[in-house]
Amino acid sequence: MDLKSGYPYWAVKNGLMYAFPQLDADLSCEVAVVGAGITGALIADELAAHGHDVAVVEQRDVGWGSTSASTALLQYEIDTHAIDLARRYDQASALLAYQSCLRAISEIGELAHTVGDVDFAKCESLYYASNRADHSRLADEFAWRKEHDFPVRWLSRAVLKGEYGLTTPAAILSSVAARVDPYRLASRLLRRMQRQGTRVFDRTQVKTITATTHSVQLTTDSGLSIKARHAVIASGYEAQCWLRQRVAKNLSSYAYISDPVDPAELGWLASTLLWESARPYLYLRSTGDGRLLVGGEDDDRDIPARRDRMVDRKAATLQRKVARLFPHLHARPAFAWAGTFAETSDGLPLFGHHPQYGPCVLFALAYGGNGITYSMLGAELLRAQIERRPHPLTALFSFSRLRCH
Ligand SMILES: Cc1cc2nc3c(=O)[nH]c(=O)nc-3n(C[C@H](O)[C@H](O)[C@H](O)COP(=O)(O)OP(=O)(O)OC[C@H]3O[C@@H](n4cnc5c(N)ncnc54)[C@H](O)[C@@H]3O)c2cc1C
Repeated sequence: MDLKSGYPYWAVKNGLMYAFPQLDADLSCEVAVVGAGITGALIADELAAHGHDVAVVEQRDVGWGSTSASTALLQYEIDTHAIDLARRYDQASALLAYQSCLRAISEIGELAHTVGDVDFAKCESLYYASNRADHSRLADEFAWRKEHDFPVRWLSRAVLKGEYGLTTPAAILSSVAARVDPYRLASRLLRRMQRQGTRVFDRTQVKTITATTHSVQLTTDSGLSIKARHAVIASGYEAQCWLRQRVAKNLSSYAYISDPVDPAELGWLASTLLWESARPYLYLRSTGDGRLLVGGEDDDRDIPARRDRMVDRKAATLQRKVARLFPHLHARPAFAWAGTFAETSDGLPLFGHHPQYGPCVLFALAYGGNGITYSMLGAELLRAQIERRPHPLTALFSFSRLRCH
């Protein structure tokens, strides 16, 4: 599966950061993590840091899948409004999902701090109503978040015009959000783990998974075997090939990044993520080197050649939208790209066992607009499952919720 097109900025900026060895002999470990994107890296790190014997195998170079195409706005705000989640499930589930994601932002920040040099920065997040019709939905969402003590402020049309120069009906401003270079974070985390004794292999593809109730055996493209007590399938959007059940829909999202912009022109965008209530939504943020990173124009093109052809046209559309919002801003595309992503019907991820494989195979499908936040939560959730401990998110992030709804 071709996960990205064009020139994803993190890949251009960082290049191939580290080379890891290919697997060249059979292997035994307690937990085999398949996939070394941001999800596999965070899960492997959580497990290794708590004394588990982990081996990571990656078919490409590490981080070179969707992680290198991500725009990496780190938000606790899920693509599905809390009020819609509460309607679909119940108040407690909506609250659990939103509060967990809120906590995850700080946890990513703490981890990024220990890894260092990954362009992590705390930000605010401004979520605006794209049109008048969305005003009341946003007001209801704001009221729910306020009632449950989320760090939010309501911005009226007048405040948006006066303080932000935006001509939009209303917005929710959240004081908790962040941004990171996700490829750098995944790569540096894996390199640190390797130095501390975790085995990491790239250019090694897992071809088969054979699970019993006590163990799992993986075979690789060169016929080698990996025996483990548990396998964590953190193979991103490609993980769906292991499941007969269809659990998500694949989409493409498009992005571009500008050359560095004069800080005076960037203004509040230097420290604020921006997104909107329309679906698909426009999303943007800045980088540590003062560039504007813009994404959106999602579509359901799943054929890479067709998606490749769309990159420049989509970047031009995104640029026009940004110019309408910020007529003074000179931020033309320097690099543009597209990437595959997937979303579930409720916007929540899937972490845990699937009945097709039994208890020793754990899936880590961090699907949705804030996949990176989900991956952070998935790391502690899967560790709890491996250690046979209860975790509050087990049911809400499980495959079984798809059967119930
Ligand atoms: C354009 C775009 C914008 C996005 N913006 C945001 C955002 O703003 N905020 C946010 O939180 N999220 C965002 N996301 C989503 C986020 O990027 C993903 O959730 C995240 O990158 C997924 O990481 P992953 O490790 O699960 O998948 P990947 O990074 O794809 O990693 C999975 C790895 O598994 C490997 N693999 C697959 N099959 C095998 C196999 N059989 N054997 C061995 N290895 C295998 C792949 O090579 C790959 O490297 C965006 C995604 C895209 C594409």
